[in-house]
Amino acid sequence: MRNDKALHIASAVRALSGEASLTRAGDLDSIKALCFDFGDTLVNSKIFVSNGDKKAIEEAMRFYHLDGSPARYLSLTERAWDDAGRELDEKYCRGLPLTKHDSQLSGELATRYFAESLTRLMGQVPSQESIASVAEAQLKGIMTADSLFPEVKETLSVLHESYPLGIISDNMAEYVEGPLRHLDLKKFFKVVVISGKEGPGITKPNPEIFRRALSRLKVQPGEALMVGDNTRADIEGARNVGMFTVWVNRNREKLTGTAKPDYIVGDLSGVLDVLSGSFHN
Ligand SMILES: [Mg+2]
Repeated sequence: MRNDKALHIASAVRALSGEASLTRAGDLDSIKALCFDFGDTLVNSKIFVSNGDKKAIEEAMRFYHLDGSPARYLSLTERAWDDAGRELDEKYCRGLPLTKHDSQLSGELATRYFAESLTRLMGQVPSQESIASVAEAQLKGIMTADSLFPEVKETLSVLHESYPLGIISDNMAEYVEGPLRHLDLKKFFKVVVISGKEGPGITKPNPEIFRRALSRLKVQPGEALMVGDNTRADIEGARNVGMFTVWVNRNREKLTGTAKPDYIVGDLSGVLDVLSGSFHN
């Protein structure tokens, strides 16, 4: 079985080029399932966040009949969004057992975030109607952004032929499920585990979120590979439960901290090299 998989993937590797480097050889013959982080592993979160902000500003301009270019308002309000976000994080998340990714708090935070930002933008307390309208526009902007990294779909389509695939993401459910639908990626994943749906505190690197994904994929930790861009949340988190790990290092950053990924790849196609055994130092 392993040989069939390796041959299938090796032929895909010839078609896709990926850079990869090895930090520790692992026995990958036991791999039966693959798990992926979402933001900045499969999609460029800068693109979907900025598309969400752009749509939010456009809606605020429409709602309050503001003239001028959205870009001008975006630059005027960037600091307001940042300050409001930071204040709300400190006020509502610090010291709480909850995190901002927990669904109920996320919804509340989003409402307060837009209320605060619109107050700063307009110099007046916004109506509930305007808050809801801007929040909806932002969500739609996030859900419909073309944020996929170029090699991702082809790589997933190859991997999905040989392995059950899962997503493990820290986020609000809509921020993952919406883009998965829009980008036509949902069909590749057997399991999607999102912290916003899992309940208080179930966020990476908490072992529980990895265990839930493994249990739903019906594999043991040593039979699964976690692929992600965040060395603490994805790599340390997965390694602590006994999974193999691949760090997707798109920006060629130096490895710092205590994380020890089994493999380091330059983009997602490097995972094909890892699994085909054609991985080079
Ligand atoms: Mg990420």
